[in-house]
Amino acid sequence: VAKTSHSKLVCYDDEQNNYSPDRLAMIGQLRSAIDNDELRLHYQPKVGQPDGHVTCVEALVRWQHPDRGLLSPDKFVPLAEQTGLIDDLTRWVLTAALRQLTVWRRARPDLSVAVNISERSMNHLDLPQMVFDAMNDTGAEASALVLEITEGALVTDPERAGVVMQHLAGAGVRLSLDDFGEGFTSLHTLSGLPLNELKIDRIFVNDVLNGPNDAAIVRSVVELGHNLNLQVVAEGVETAEILALLNQMGVNAAQGYYFSPPLPAEEIMDWLAASTP
Ligand code: C2E
Ligand code: CA
Ligand code: CA
Ligand code: CA
Repeated sequence: VAKTSHSKLVCYDDEQNNYSPDRLAMIGQLRSAIDNDELRLHYQPKVGQPDGHVTCVEALVRWQHPDRGLLSPDKFVPLAEQTGLIDDLTRWVLTAALRQLTVWRRARPDLSVAVNISERSMNHLDLPQMVFDAMNDTGAEASALVLEITEGALVTDPERAGVVMQHLAGAGVRLSLDDFGEGFTSLHTLSGLPLNELKIDRIFVNDVLNGPNDAAIVRSVVELGHNLNLQVVAEGVETAEILALLNQMGVNAAQGYYFSPPLPAEEIMDWLAASTP
């Protein structure tokens, strides 16, 4: 995290005074942003390989800040995690994404939506109830929802995260392990969790053409995923060369600027319509 004292966006830095006026202002603004629908969802397709069929879009939150413009999640999700606002944010995202999905599914019944769950929410035993409430409120089916959980969330308290995951999976929600490769999840932990998907972190994906060692890492992650019966998704795919190599390695889906950046709901539907044979 950058720490220039002039930037207001560093107010969430742990090392700064928790009661700095900037930080307090930002917390208050974020709270009202959630209540006043200043948050926006953009969606990015997970493109099935090698056929190009899209069955899932990932929802990524933004904040349409009245003065600062469209803020990316790095600017406010950490603040929400540190202040307890994350539950309200997660509830907002789940409800907005599932509401949008039920509209899309009238035209595309096979489409599902992926929502990111922060480390802190993952360790909350109330998360499943929050998810079920959002499904009830929107009429969405559990099987239409994928929750992306970062590997880091499993490191903090693997047992509690496991309980939360079993509860969700038992209801039919699909679970994806995000940013895989950044953490140190043991194979033992991994094989005991009710996962459906593993996402290879974009750091590894971007390095895949650099040399034999980098390629070997990605290749073994794909194999590991397949041996555990998981769908393997590569994130951050930016070029045709990288996509071709990932396809040789057998990834099930790819996501990245090469296909599309995250886009507002209307635009992603136009993109899907144009890209569907
Ligand atoms: P993530 O879940 O790993 O999401 C992927 C990030 O990579 C997104 O950044 C996406 O815009 C970006 N990306 C996609 N394709 C490419 C590519 O080809 N190249 C590069 N360089 N980047 C690409 P974004 O939207 O800024 O989100 C950043 C992080 O914020 C996410 O990482 C996720 O951890 C978090 N986040 C986003 N939305 C939510 C949310 O609703 N709830 C929570 N708890 N976290 C969220
Ligand atoms: Ca994600
Ligand atoms: Ca990721
Ligand atoms: Ca990430």
